Amino acid sequence: MKQTVRCQCGALYEREEHQTVVRWRDAFNCVVCGREIEDWSRSRRAIFRLIRRPVSLPERPPSG
Ligand SMILES: [Zn+2]
Repeated sequence: MKQTVRCQCGALYEREEHQTVVRWRDAFNCVVCGREIEDWSRSRRAIFRLIRRPVSLPERPPSG
């Protein structure tokens, strides 16, 4: 079952739960703003795919 999840920064993700997935991460952070979108227990995992970026991107870090 697929859902769409929206981050506070405006990024839109497709979320799909998997019960038997190869070892995955314990949490998912937004690839755009870095905010944690979801953390889950070891029995339930979800995969997120970025399907739409926010209109206004956050400022880039001042690292060169
Ligand atoms: Zn975000």
